[in-house]
Amino acid sequence: MLRLRIHSTTWPRPALILTDTPNPACPDCQGSGGHNHDYGDPETGEYSGTEWDPCPCWDETRRWTLLPLPLLPHWGRRPDPWDDEPPF
Ligand SMILES: [Zn+2]
Repeated sequence: MLRLRIHSTTWPRPALILTDTPNPACPDCQGSGGHNHDYGDPETGEYSGTEWDPCPCWDETRRWTLLPLPLLPHWGRRPDPWDDEPPF
């Protein structure tokens, strides 16, 4: 089941996008969307890094652009036309 959420993003370009989201009741990830795996060197067994493993309850690559947005310096703040009159 898809749980879609609308985000505004500035990358790769300003847009409103619709994304899939992790299942908040997921028994695997408890809604965090994935797991961190520490992994070690197969020969020495020493810690060599942490890998992010996305949970199969969602698909982080599943996203749709709803609406490309113009480049705005402050997303969500519109200049008030009455405050923005040039002085005469
Ligand atoms: Zn999950």
